[in-house]
Amino acid sequence: MNIVKRDISQKRAIELKEKIKEYLSKKEKIDKGLEKKEEILKRKKIILDVLNGTEEDWNDYKWQLKNRINKVDVLNKIISLSEDEKKILNDVSEKYRWGISPYYLSLMNFTKKYGPIRLMSIPLLNEIKDTYGMLDPMSEEYTNPAGCITRRYPDRLILNVTNECAMYCRFCQRRRNIGQQDKVKSKDIIDESIDYIKANEEIRDVLITGGDALTLNDQILEDIISRVRAIEHVEIIRIGTRTPVTMPQRITKELCDMFKKYHPMYINTHFNHPMEVTEEAKKACEMLSEAGIPLGNQAVLLNGINNSPHVMKCLNQELLKCRVKPYYIFHAKSIKGTSHFSTSIEDGLAIMNNLRGFTSGMAIPTYIVNAPKGKGKVPLNSNNIVEKGDGYVVIKTWEGEKLKIKNHNTINIKQVK
Ligand code: SF4
Repeated sequence: MNIVKRDISQKRAIELKEKIKEYLSKKEKIDKGLEKKEEILKRKKIILDVLNGTEEDWNDYKWQLKNRINKVDVLNKIISLSEDEKKILNDVSEKYRWGISPYYLSLMNFTKKYGPIRLMSIPLLNEIKDTYGMLDPMSEEYTNPAGCITRRYPDRLILNVTNECAMYCRFCQRRRNIGQQDKVKSKDIIDESIDYIKANEEIRDVLITGGDALTLNDQILEDIISRVRAIEHVEIIRIGTRTPVTMPQRITKELCDMFKKYHPMYINTHFNHPMEVTEEAKKACEMLSEAGIPLGNQAVLLNGINNSPHVMKCLNQELLKCRVKPYYIFHAKSIKGTSHFSTSIEDGLAIMNNLRGFTSGMAIPTYIVNAPKGKGKVPLNSNNIVEKGDGYVVIKTWEGEKLKIKNHNTINIKQVK
């Protein structure tokens, strides 16, 4: 190689190394599930002792569901709560349900009051003091044309098949559906929803979610999936689930074998913090991948949990190790009882600006705000076109440099000889 070119390349490589230094030193200090295996195992042992469970129980998702921790005295035996915390839990539970799968509890640092796993699973007083926000800011009740369907777009819709979840996330954007009791949608409601899809031939994409669709047992789930798949105009089936994060034991060989019969299927899961990416979660995602299911992640931007460029970048990189493609970062909606999780739009834009160029494009999701009144998703970006002129635009690179590029007129390809 020409010595001048090599010299320029080496100087640039040194510059690039400098640009990643800060992230690498911050990344080291971020708790990551894949690195905390020993701590998680110790906590698992404590939880199994309190719940009187066995290793076999732990690996059975039905045991995990049945043994969700939702009583103050049981939680207190595991993580030792103050009198204040006990009172808050009792008061909040009169209004909002709480419950944590034993597995998810094992990810929690028991002594860190504002640790990410604890914030996502144990209520704070703000939940009942909060007067800000609405329970249904997206007016989902006005986008429910039949059965348990939510329809906001021309060619796709959502089937909300249950209100049950492996844990009840404190930031939940659908908390009004959670209620106090598990309610699988009745056969009549499912029938009405399937009939609606059959009657509307433009629907080519059906998202099955809840609550969490994978809290349903295999038989009920297969009944729904097979009936949707039998509709000729439905091209793809998607499932929205947080179980790979909150209860990875749900991803069994039997479930994966069942999914394989109904391709093309896609799954979007919901990791919010690198601590959630554990050996078990990774295995669950790999099993789904091996069943031929592409996996995407929909994170919610949450104050104190992931509203940091470093944490979000680390999360996205950890997800790629598990074959999960970061798909969306949702700006948190104004849901009553969750205002402490809200962040500014600037937090989201800063995260996006710190991803592009600084890490692989594969690790970059789209930052989305859900428009009010069910008007759909709006992607947000800092505007990278800083000037437009006759035949050119000036763009801003990921390093903030402004560069002029030619702006072509689009021509009709069929007129090209
Ligand atoms: S799993 Fe999803 S629907 Fe269920 S509580 Fe958590 S965020 Fe809400």
